[in-house]
Amino acid sequence: MLNTVFRRDEPANEPVKAFAPGSPERESLAARLAEMSNETVEIPCIVGGEEVRTGDVVDVTAPHDHSKLICRWHRADAETLHKAVQASQEAWKDWSNQPPHVRMSVLEKAANLLAGPWRDTVNAATMLGQSKTCHQAEIDSACELIDFYRLNSWMALTKIYTEQPTSTPDTWNYVDHRPLEGFVMAITPFNFTSIAGNLPTAPALMGNVVLWKPSKGSMLSNYYVMKLLEEAGFPPGVINFVPNSPKAMADSVFGSEHFSGLHFTGSTGVFQKIWLQTAENLAKYRTYPRIVGETGGKDFIFVHESADLDALVVAALRGAYEFQGQKCSAASRMYVPDTLWPAFRDRLVAEIEKIKMGDPADFSNFMCAVIDKWAYQDITGYVDKAKAGAKILTGGGYSDDQGWFVEPTLVECEDPRFVTMEEEIFGPVLSVYVYKADDMEGALDLCDTTSPYALTGAVFSQDRGMAEYIGKRLRQAAGNFYINDKPTGAVVNQQPFGGARASGTDDKAGGPQNLVRWIAPRSVKENFLPPKDWRYPFMD
Ligand code: NAD
Repeated sequence: MLNTVFRRDEPANEPVKAFAPGSPERESLAARLAEMSNETVEIPCIVGGEEVRTGDVVDVTAPHDHSKLICRWHRADAETLHKAVQASQEAWKDWSNQPPHVRMSVLEKAANLLAGPWRDTVNAATMLGQSKTCHQAEIDSACELIDFYRLNSWMALTKIYTEQPTSTPDTWNYVDHRPLEGFVMAITPFNFTSIAGNLPTAPALMGNVVLWKPSKGSMLSNYYVMKLLEEAGFPPGVINFVPNSPKAMADSVFGSEHFSGLHFTGSTGVFQKIWLQTAENLAKYRTYPRIVGETGGKDFIFVHESADLDALVVAALRGAYEFQGQKCSAASRMYVPDTLWPAFRDRLVAEIEKIKMGDPADFSNFMCAVIDKWAYQDITGYVDKAKAGAKILTGGGYSDDQGWFVEPTLVECEDPRFVTMEEEIFGPVLSVYVYKADDMEGALDLCDTTSPYALTGAVFSQDRGMAEYIGKRLRQAAGNFYINDKPTGAVVNQQPFGGARASGTDDKAGGPQNLVRWIAPRSVKENFLPPKDWRYPFMD
C-alpha cells in the first residue's frame, strides 16, 4: 500500500492536427494509409488474452472501393462468448480490487500510445474502413478517443473517488466506489472509433470487466484499438474482443447471471430490442443491470430572421454532410423563415455543389462513401421518396459502381411532417421546411414534436434574447443545444454528449454522469465511540 493520495491536473483536449499540404503529419499519415491499403488483416476474437479463430469468417471491403478487401474477421459463436464471460469473471477477481491509480495509469498509457506511435495506424484504419477524410478520422479516432482516456481518468479521480460524504467528530464516513459485480457488455456502432474505444474502457476504468462487441462496419479500426489497449496493459480478460452476430448473445450474454451492465451506442430500435431482452431475463441476474444507451437522432437547425447567413451556410453544410451525414448529431432538418429563404437557399446550393466526394486517400475530398450496402439502400430509399414527394434542390444522385456513394442532397419539404423531416436517415440528406416568419411559434411547435428523438439541435439568431427564448421553447428537444454553431462536433469535457426521449438514457459520454453508472457505491461508517448502554436518556 502506498502512502499517497494521487493528484492529477485537468488535462487539456488533444490538439487537432491540420494535415495541410506539405505538413509532416500529412506525409506520415498518407504513407501509413498507402501501406495499409495493400493489406488484408485477419482479425481473431480475443478472449482472456488469447486469440480465438472460430473459422466463421466475414470479409470486409473498403466502403469507397469494392475491390479492396481490408480485413476478414472471425465471428464469435455462443461457445466463444460463454468462454469470454468466464474469462471476464476470472479477471474480475484481481482487476476489481486494483486501486484507482493502477487502472488510471493503464488508460493514461493508452492515451499516450494513441497520441504517439499508434496515431497514424488508428487514423488510417478509420479512413480505410469507415471512409472518413483525414480530418474526420483525426477528430474522432485520435483526438476524441485520447480525450476520453485522459479526461475520464481525471474525472474518475477528481469528481467521483474524491467526492466523499460528511463525517462527524466521533464517526468517519466514506464511500467505497465499488465496480459492478459481473461483467459489462459494450456494444458499439460503426460511425465513431472514439465511441467504440470508449464504451469498453469507461467501465473498465471504474474496475469492471467487459465483453466488447464491435460493429462489422468498423472492425479494422476497432481491432487496432484493442491491440493498443493490450499494449497499454489491460490484463487478459478485462476487455474481451468478441465480434459476433446478435443471435449468439441471447443466452451466453443476456442469459448469464453475471450480466451487470449494457454500454450501448447505436440505433434506437436495436437498443429497445436489447433492453426488452434483458428485462425478460431480469430474475436470472445477480444484480440489476445498468442500462446505458445513446441512440438515434433527428437533429435540427432552427433559424431566426436575425441569423447571420454566412455562418448559417457553413453550419448547415458541415453539420449535414461531413462524414456523409453519418453522425448521430448530423443536422438533418432545418426550419428557415420565408424572409431569409431565397438568399440562404441560393448560397447553400452554390456551396454544396462545390463539394468533392471520393476516396479518402485523396485529401482534397470533403466527403467519401457511406458505410455499406445496407446503409446505401436505406439512404437512397429516402432520396427516392424525396424525389417523389418533395423537391430536391441539389444532389439526389447515387452510385454503387466503385463504392457506396450518395451525393450531398438538399430537400425542400412543403409538408413539415414529410418522412425526411421526421425519420433518422443517417446519410447526406438535409431537409428544409420554410416557415412563415410571422408564425414562428407554429414552427417551434413543429420542431419540438415532429420526431421522437431529442439528441442535438441548434438555433441561429443574432438577436440574443430571441436565441434564449427559442432555446427555452426547445428545452426538451435536444440533449446538446448549440447557439450560432452547428449541432455536431461535441468535445469531451466541454459539451458532455447525449440526448433523452428516443435518443437514449442521456448519461453523457465524456462526463462523470456516465462513469457513475459503472459503480455500485458502498457506504462505510466507522464509529470511534460506539455506545455501551442500550438505554436512552429519555427512559430515565
Ligand atoms: P446499429 O444499431 O445498427 O448497430 C449498433 C451495434 O449494435 C452494432 O455493433 C451492431 O452489430 C449491434 N446490433 C445490431 N442488432 C443487434 C441486436 N439485435 N442485438 C445486439 N446487438 C445488435 O447502429 P449503427 O448503424 O452501427 O450506428 C448508427 C446508429 O447509431 C444511428 O442510429 C446513430 O444515431 C446512432 N449513434 C448514436 C450516438 C449517440 O451518442 N447518441 C452516437 C453514434 C451513433
